[in-house]
Amino acid sequence: MAAKSKTDHRPVAPALLRWYDKHARVLPWRSRPGEHADPYAVWLSEIMLQQTTVATVGKYFRDFMQRWPTVEQLAAAPIDDVMKRWAGLGYYSRARNLHACAVMVAHDYNGQFPDDEAALQKLPGIGPYTAAAITAIAFGKRATVIDGNVDRVVTRLFAIEMPLPLSKPEIRAQAETLTPDKRAGDFAQAMMDLGATICTPKSPSCNRCPLTEVCDAYAQGIADTLPRRAPKKPRPVRHGACFFVTRPDGAVLLRKRVAKGLLGGMMEVPTTPWLDAAAEDYSEFAPLKAKWKKRMGLVEHTFTHFHLILTVFVGAAGAKEAAKAGGVWTAQDELAGEALPSLMRKVVALAMPDEGPLFSKQSKK
Ligand code: SF4
Repeated sequence: MAAKSKTDHRPVAPALLRWYDKHARVLPWRSRPGEHADPYAVWLSEIMLQQTTVATVGKYFRDFMQRWPTVEQLAAAPIDDVMKRWAGLGYYSRARNLHACAVMVAHDYNGQFPDDEAALQKLPGIGPYTAAAITAIAFGKRATVIDGNVDRVVTRLFAIEMPLPLSKPEIRAQAETLTPDKRAGDFAQAMMDLGATICTPKSPSCNRCPLTEVCDAYAQGIADTLPRRAPKKPRPVRHGACFFVTRPDGAVLLRKRVAKGLLGGMMEVPTTPWLDAAAEDYSEFAPLKAKWKKRMGLVEHTFTHFHLILTVFVGAAGAKEAAKAGGVWTAQDELAGEALPSLMRKVVALAMPDEGPLFSKQSKK
């Protein structure tokens, strides 16, 4: 249930839309204020933006739109190509769902995204947030879009002191009351822009905000203390090792991870299971017989639910031994174009310190 506020928040939508008409961020997937965007571009950008910043998504979005300008072209692309172009964006189940969704829209919907939230949520990878965003932004229909920025802005407008995530139902109820019947897509993007540029997590710039007169947190002088958050549990730490092995022609052994689960379907430098404690000896997991040398330093990577620390071993395999190994031997100058997630790019960087970061090479492909 929405808490009672004495403030009349009806001026929020008109004031914010006036501000948006002047100050909307220019983003590659965006139409101009007042215009509807291409549903394919909105969907693609929204999937990429889940858990990922606007700054990171830009080049990936442009690359996908250039390679696959329509949903039919994306549907026709081999999944391995999609995974390769997604490498580095993280949360790889998104890429598999992206492709599955493109196939479904191309085949079952004649290449047209449905324009209502319920139908959109039946498509792979589209949850309530993305369905609302596509409905509002691409089709201009009323839908309440709530992302992290909107959580923060609404929490402050209504001075909601209950900590996140407990306050989510109240935030939704209050956000519903703010959403206008017209220009719902612009309103959603305006809320996101306000949260990203003015009502920022630390030190909000209230002196530049178009909503100060209707903001309860501002009136009470508590804006920068909101939203409150329930204390987080410490992230568990897991440990493992990777085996970076070359054969006589310099090719490197990679393996494809199983399709389901973390980094599913992506390529990897052969790795051990990730364990709750560091092992004394990882040799039983080595992909082949070789003289393994431990690299100085460790690879560390933080996933949503745990932190991972990897030891990296390097080795050289003879031709006979290499022929027996399962996996894919990949030329070193082709590593950058492989579907290697960021974690594995860090492993390669530690194993081949003179080669520089793989991401800069990938962009040339
Ligand atoms: S007045 Fe300050 S706290 Fe309130 S919405 Fe604007 S920037 Fe955020």
